[in-house]
Amino acid sequence: MRNLKSVFGLHRFRDHQLDAINAAMAGKDVFVLMPTGGGKSLCYQLPAVCTGGKGRRVSFVVSPLVALIKDQSKALKDKGVDVVTLGSADSDAHRTGAMSRLTGSGRKPQIVYLTPEKLNTHYMRGILDKLYKDGHIARFVMDEAHCITSWGRNFRGSYANLNWLRDTYPDVPIMALTATAKAEDIINIHNHLKLRDCVFIKSPFNRPNLNYEIRQKGSKVVADIAAYIKSTHPNESGIIYCLSRNKCEEIAQELRDNYALSARHFHAAMSDEDKHNAQKAWQEGEGEIIVATIAFGMGIDKPDVRFVIHHHLPKSMEGYYQETGRAGRDRLPADCVLYFTYKDIAILKKMISESEGVVEEEKQRQLDQLEEVVKFCQNKQHCRRSLMLRYFGQPDFDPKDCRKFCDNCRDNVHTVSEDMTVVARDFLHLVQSTTEKENLTKNHLQAVFRGSKAQKILANNHDKLPWYGRGKDIDGEKCAMLVEHLLTHGALVETGVKNSAGWTNSYMKVCVQICGGRPIF
Ligand code: ADP
Ligand code: ZN
Repeated sequence: MRNLKSVFGLHRFRDHQLDAINAAMAGKDVFVLMPTGGGKSLCYQLPAVCTGGKGRRVSFVVSPLVALIKDQSKALKDKGVDVVTLGSADSDAHRTGAMSRLTGSGRKPQIVYLTPEKLNTHYMRGILDKLYKDGHIARFVMDEAHCITSWGRNFRGSYANLNWLRDTYPDVPIMALTATAKAEDIINIHNHLKLRDCVFIKSPFNRPNLNYEIRQKGSKVVADIAAYIKSTHPNESGIIYCLSRNKCEEIAQELRDNYALSARHFHAAMSDEDKHNAQKAWQEGEGEIIVATIAFGMGIDKPDVRFVIHHHLPKSMEGYYQETGRAGRDRLPADCVLYFTYKDIAILKKMISESEGVVEEEKQRQLDQLEEVVKFCQNKQHCRRSLMLRYFGQPDFDPKDCRKFCDNCRDNVHTVSEDMTVVARDFLHLVQSTTEKENLTKNHLQAVFRGSKAQKILANNHDKLPWYGRGKDIDGEKCAMLVEHLLTHGALVETGVKNSAGWTNSYMKVCVQICGGRPIF
């Protein structure tokens, strides 16, 4: 408790953290299954700090991503924890310094973060042998342990080879942590690491007191948000998540000036002092609204947040879960409302494809994650809770247990089935009739399809295209839904093309894989 307060600045444990920490400190193998944002790191960081004792025992934390290692170790160093990192991109000087901390006779670091590749080097194994012999290894921690099964099979061979840890150092306890609850993954991880008498800590993913709702985002979204807060949550605290810093400031001001609501903005570009003040006022106040980018929320535990509103589409289901998860920590009912429009998808996609210094593989991963959110929002049929839990690897949630605490369960919508085959085919024809000659954007093609007389369309003679105006009877939102559906199911693809100014534009094509390059119909 003393270290929790003095080192981590926290006041109490969250559900299951203490169990995990106690088991670890008793020298047991521990498997921690907790949703993202649930507080897994503390489960190994606190024991590492406590068993540091006279500074002779090291916790080795194996983590897959160098960026993650950097973030974590920086945060720990700021707290005064003695951390050493070993990544593949380290300079020689850094590496030599780190190694001499491990081999020298002085104080050992409390935590060593390293990638599986690093752990598996001949040199590192030599060091581990020595530390083991002298009783200086506190435990091995496998963060993001699901990578053992998902990555080990594919391209990170070092993950598939971690079973030597138990064989070589049988007395060292192992802790595995993951947010992925798929039963087969759990079994795989357990077997692979050769865990024994393992204490299994599973914190439930379902948040029964959170009501999930997706609303259509229109041009009057701020008025809508204000009306919603006033009618449903007068004088209660909440968070509104926005995409950009400007939007945060703009919306907070609008809520104050036009609707007399007590709202403040928060984003990463503010000075530390301003951030601190905004956070403090919100944290301590009642009926305070904070309008923030996702930079807000880390490390904040306000129990009585009654609503979390997404003014903009979240980037991933993990993000959505984490952001909405800040509501209702006191277990009393709280609302999570997401405003959804197709326009926001395009904005995020553009941001992802234009982000600098990000490898293609990572961009694709981000696009895939976004696609999951889109599917979730588009679904007007299934219980939100079961969709989410399925995504996080718990497919057996019974929607009855939602107790009508999500829009889809509550609205009991009569799903109207409509055969869109003809319209879909027409749209694909339209796209195909243009792709040979020119690159056109999704929005432009939809406008052509719906028979727009915009200048750009007339100037390019797109009103002369044989499929021009075929979709004139379809409303814009429905047309967008159809196009997203065709994209999700791979009938259409968007390809990024860099223009002369260096910007990437996305153009729509009919997917070659499904038509083999020939006309599909
Ligand atoms: P995970 O690894 O499970 O995704 P983290 O360990 O990154 O989650 O923790 C998520 C956030 O929760 C962090 O900002 C952390 O500071 C905060 N947190 C963790 N435990 C506690 C606690 N007992 N009290 C308050 N905040 C906590
Ligand atoms: Zn439901």
